[in-house]
Amino acid sequence: MNYAARRDRLAYSLRQQGLDALLVSAAVNVRYLTGFTGGGGSFLLLTPDRSLLISDGRFPEQIAEECPGLPAYIRALGELTVDAVGRVLVEHKLTRVGIEANRLTVRDLEKLRERVKSATWVSTDGLVETERAVKDADEIAIIRRAVAAAEGVFLDLRAQVRGDDTEFDLTNRIEQLTRVHGGQRTSFEPITAVGDRSALAHAPPTARRVDSAAFTLIDWGVVVDGYASDLTRMLVPDKPSVRSASTPRLDLDRLNPVWNAVVAARDAAVAVLRPGAATSDADAAARKAIGDAGFGDRFTHSLGHGIGLEVHEGPTLRSNSETKLVPGNVVTVEPGIYIPGFGGVRIEDDVLITPDGVEVLSTLPRDLESARF
Ligand code: ZN
Ligand code: ZN
Repeated sequence: MNYAARRDRLAYSLRQQGLDALLVSAAVNVRYLTGFTGGGGSFLLLTPDRSLLISDGRFPEQIAEECPGLPAYIRALGELTVDAVGRVLVEHKLTRVGIEANRLTVRDLEKLRERVKSATWVSTDGLVETERAVKDADEIAIIRRAVAAAEGVFLDLRAQVRGDDTEFDLTNRIEQLTRVHGGQRTSFEPITAVGDRSALAHAPPTARRVDSAAFTLIDWGVVVDGYASDLTRMLVPDKPSVRSASTPRLDLDRLNPVWNAVVAARDAAVAVLRPGAATSDADAAARKAIGDAGFGDRFTHSLGHGIGLEVHEGPTLRSNSETKLVPGNVVTVEPGIYIPGFGGVRIEDDVLITPDGVEVLSTLPRDLESARF
């Protein structure tokens, strides 16, 4: 990863905005700009010609290892981060200082205002996040591995599921398989929603058994080297080992139209995705396909979101956004139809915007027949 090049790009936008410095307080943004993985509480002070990582006594060795050549200020025991920041600002006579208004807490800003009377604090919103939305070749290679690991998890999960597994069991197994497949952790708590619980777009796991319903929705992701994947597929119990006497019959008359509309929406959205396309156009294409099938009011969320160091980042594919896609964006496409009392169907793929169009990174099949197991 070329962290110095990332800092240079950001320094250029600082100059354009007339800022002496940017105080990067979000751990994920500090990581993006430095490679430091120590988490919250370490801030990066970036000026047009230098960077300084302000950290504490737990991290000098880790900083030397992860961020070779990056100057660090290790605050003394008992010295607060905001005090250390203030001391550096005064020492370097930095006065117009950008803060990440979407990240810094109000309390920390109040402390900074108190301690550094000479500084003017300028709210910025999403400067680093805008850079992060465009992935470079190294990041794309890692995201490919995160998607492949997630697909491996799903295939193993499907091979291991039993009818008496509960949503808790499925969640546990996904977490365990995540490490088996080289993931550091899951991208979020996996959603394992049996039957009508799949009508809740973000259903938390319960003791509901797989064999108590005709289908189950699985939404999961794997973090590899800090980067998240995010996929959704359905499971339709078919074999005797995953069904029981009480498993309801699969109501194909009802499920097929829902499923087909979701796949049509996914295909329509992917057909729109390319450099220069508005993110709202992709959302509109998916929404039209679902509307045409008669489920217009049942697609109750936006089409998708960027993935990267965070599982939800820019660009967002939603109706009220004029953001234009560019090569290097990696987004989810995840249309869904949710019918209370019956259930929901969602299909979620991870997609890379390329210079000529789009590459779908996820390869698991999307049709109902392939979901039978
Ligand atoms: Zn998801
Ligand atoms: Zn998602």
